[in-house]
Amino acid sequence: MSSIASGLLQVLDERRITGRLPADVRVQVSRLRHAVKVATLAAAGIVPAPPPPAALSAFDAGAALQAWIRAQPWAQPDPEGWVYLLHFVDPATGAYRPLRGQGNRGQVAGHYWGWTTDLERRIVREHRNPKWTGPGRLVQVALAAGLSFELAYLEYPATLGRERRLKHQGGAARRCPLCRGTGGPLDPAAAVAAVAGGAR
Ligand SMILES: [Zn+2]
Repeated sequence: MSSIASGLLQVLDERRITGRLPADVRVQVSRLRHAVKVATLAAAGIVPAPPPPAALSAFDAGAALQAWIRAQPWAQPDPEGWVYLLHFVDPATGAYRPLRGQGNRGQVAGHYWGWTTDLERRIVREHRNPKWTGPGRLVQVALAAGLSFELAYLEYPATLGRERRLKHQGGAARRCPLCRGTGGPLDPAAAVAAVAGGAR
């Protein structure tokens, strides 16, 4: 019990969380800290073992603190979903065709990284829909420029943080099976069904 409590205190110290706690929780932390210290000294035979009520209050304080931490937004696990990579193509030939920006400083975008919890909806009803006006504007610009796209690569389960890392790494073509010639276009419905089948 006291090892759980001291582990918890260590997490608080390492992440410098204690200073951000509400005052009443901070009081609990300081009681917990004291109880852990007494328990540690008692275990080492330096001081007599604390009476049971102190140990009980350390447990209560620890449990209350853990419950409070679990309820905080920064302690929530990232939701898992799909990271996907779109590869822009010429709809007539199916060949890779990047989107070129306007002007002589125009940027070239041959791929689009995205993350979603609903792959079919995202690809079929949003990205494929030329009238879609929500997030994913680059894809709509590509469609308006006469391009199409293929679903080239997937990761599941994956977090939004994973998608950000892949995006910021750059070099999407290096990860793209269509560019590398190591795979064909993916079907979102089939991918979703495959994952559902695997989970059964
Ligand atoms: Zn590609």
